[in-house]
Amino acid sequence: MRDVDLYRQILGLPEPWLVTDVNLDLNGGRVEVLVTHPEGLRWMCPQCGKHLAVHDHAAERSWRHLDTCQLQTVLRARVPRVNCPEHGVLQVKVPWAEPRGRFTALMERWIIDVLQQCATISGACRLLRLSWDEVFGVMDRAVRRGQARKKPRVLRQIGVDEKAFRKGHSYTTIVSDIERSTIEYLADERKRESLEGFYNSLTPRQRQGIQAVAMDMWEPYITATQAQVPEAPRKIVFDRFHIMQHVGQAVDAVRKTEHRALRAAGDDTLTRTKYLWLHSQENLTDARREQLSILLGQNLKVARAWAIKEALRQLWDYHREGWARRFFARWYFWATHSRLEPIRQVAHMLKRRLDNIVTYCRLRITNAVAEGINSKLMAIKRRACGYRNPEHFKIAAYFFCGGLDLYPR
Ligand SMILES: [Zn+2]
Repeated sequence: MRDVDLYRQILGLPEPWLVTDVNLDLNGGRVEVLVTHPEGLRWMCPQCGKHLAVHDHAAERSWRHLDTCQLQTVLRARVPRVNCPEHGVLQVKVPWAEPRGRFTALMERWIIDVLQQCATISGACRLLRLSWDEVFGVMDRAVRRGQARKKPRVLRQIGVDEKAFRKGHSYTTIVSDIERSTIEYLADERKRESLEGFYNSLTPRQRQGIQAVAMDMWEPYITATQAQVPEAPRKIVFDRFHIMQHVGQAVDAVRKTEHRALRAAGDDTLTRTKYLWLHSQENLTDARREQLSILLGQNLKVARAWAIKEALRQLWDYHREGWARRFFARWYFWATHSRLEPIRQVAHMLKRRLDNIVTYCRLRITNAVAEGINSKLMAIKRRACGYRNPEHFKIAAYFFCGGLDLYPR
């Protein structure tokens, strides 16, 4: 079999395209496949599909294809142009690549698959023998393709979270679909407008279809949701993990003050106990749990704060709002009479926010999905050694977590 026939068969190019020459450059590790077409054919306008005679040919272009054995393989062709009365002079579509693509569709698929499987982008570049820019270009195109194909879907449960990806850097607002665990929207900052951009991208039917929104008690997000989502007060659920985090911070504030006072008197009881009071008991090792139970017997302020924090967990066991409110009233009395200022403050804050804490009884959503996505995003950051350009980071986030259909057709 001649090399031309071999490539004609393995490339499987449809009519009227033909392989007319194959150049093997063994030293350069490269195969070049020249693709042409017979003369006298009519071609379709890429805009309207009208059949037209060849107007002229664009300059020769090349597309990187899947390797042949160990050899980089490149398709070369001059693409005909048609002169459509309606759309003007345009290049016709080629069956092996998308318009303006530098890779064949099969090669782009392969790059996408390799990226998804690699721990780092530079690792993918090495495997594929491509530059960072080339690989990133494929990611970018894949995300645009996926977003263009995305059909408006009702997101019944969404999570809104904010994340600062580098210390001292500005925040990113992340909207996730809780049911599918995908990132739906990313915006700079954590302002009202950051989240409103997402709501504005939805149709009225989609906005109406939102049944529950999990978020932290963050005023700009609350305001944006109240302004854009019908019946928002019934739908907002302040995320229980964020709430427990706030209470945990109050416990830690009590510990710090008490530790300072004890240290001044030469007492090291609370040294290296920070996480003992923050983690829930089931996450402690046996040794740490024993240490905790000893400390709990010592009439410490932080021990009282801890007990108040732990008691609050029960709030999320109730399925009826009325019961949850009665439980909270008892807890609130205890917390506000604790003579522990940080605990009193956090209790007041929770009371102000109670209406959208007890919505959990009915809606039962948390931002755990968003937290899971957060850790995925951290991994993406590591993969690319910190995307210096925030737009690049967004593209990578949609590529890895957007649940998009990324492949060329
Ligand atoms: Zn046309």
